[in-house]
Amino acid sequence: MNISSSVEIAAKYIQEGKLVAFPTETVYGLGANAFNPLAVAKIFELKERPSFDPLIVHIAEIHQLEKLVLSADERVYKLAEKFWPGPLTMVLPKSDIVPDIVTSGLPTVGIRMPGNEISLELIRKSNCPIAAPSANKFGRISPTTAAHVKKQLPNVDYILEGGKTTVGIESTIIKLTDNGFQILRSGIITQDELETIIPVDRNSIIEKLSAPGMLKSHYSPRKKLLIADNDKLKIDKSMAGLISFSGKLENDYLKVIRVSERKDLKDYAVNMFDAMHTFEDDSEIEIIIAEPVCETGIGKAIMDRLRKAEFNWRQV
Ligand code: AMP
Ligand code: MG
Repeated sequence: MNISSSVEIAAKYIQEGKLVAFPTETVYGLGANAFNPLAVAKIFELKERPSFDPLIVHIAEIHQLEKLVLSADERVYKLAEKFWPGPLTMVLPKSDIVPDIVTSGLPTVGIRMPGNEISLELIRKSNCPIAAPSANKFGRISPTTAAHVKKQLPNVDYILEGGKTTVGIESTIIKLTDNGFQILRSGIITQDELETIIPVDRNSIIEKLSAPGMLKSHYSPRKKLLIADNDKLKIDKSMAGLISFSGKLENDYLKVIRVSERKDLKDYAVNMFDAMHTFEDDSEIEIIIAEPVCETGIGKAIMDRLRKAEFNWRQV
């Protein structure tokens, strides 16, 4: 089936209050009509997502923003002009039209315009904004292919195939304050890039759990994952798979996935979750080791994901 007919079918599912997994440029999303609370409730149920974890609302046209928010000053439009469509989510005061279940009762809503033609077409054809978290079970590895979605959510109503995602990690989430912006979740759009438009707010404190993406454990494989930044790391490499970036640590590992031949951090972001899925599915691998990178720019977003993937396993 060609893409445009599968988008038509997917849009019908959305209009009927069903769930559609669809590609964005970041990861696959699990979408429902953002104005239909019963449909949105199914997302929480299928993902086994706690109700305190709000969803991002996806739009295809800038005019859709106005309905969703109480107010948007010129900074919002400047950021949208520079970064949308793209992997930036803005958290803004919500209007009454946004059901509370979407925002987990918060007075704010996270909004973004995805930089992927299939998702934009799906939103347009569905004729509504689409609320969507990542299309994985809560806390598990994010999906960057349709196969990853099938593995974790085999019962989703419809999966829109769109190949491998091109960014590979979730959007940068920011909250606007009186003094500028705060990053609630890092992504490939970095603080430096955002600061070309508005200043970072170094003074306000981020409210605890104002973004559940800040939970300590997330993105977690079913197999033990450790970051190779610990000198005391004593493991049997003959049963281990290495997610390699520099090529320097590769000796003695049973299997190695090199995430970037050209040693570009963007490739690490694109291939990181896919590498975790591959080792998770490989019966010969008992433990996954991930190479750390310098925590600046995109490296910050990568280390954020790796630390959360590792968190529960560090205690074991
Ligand atoms: P996911 O798409 O699964 O990565 O999850 C969406 C994430 O967006 C949530 O876990 C929150 O961190 C963040 N988010 C969505 N809406 C809001 C909001 N109103 N305020 C703060 N964070 C939000
Ligand atoms: Mg997620």
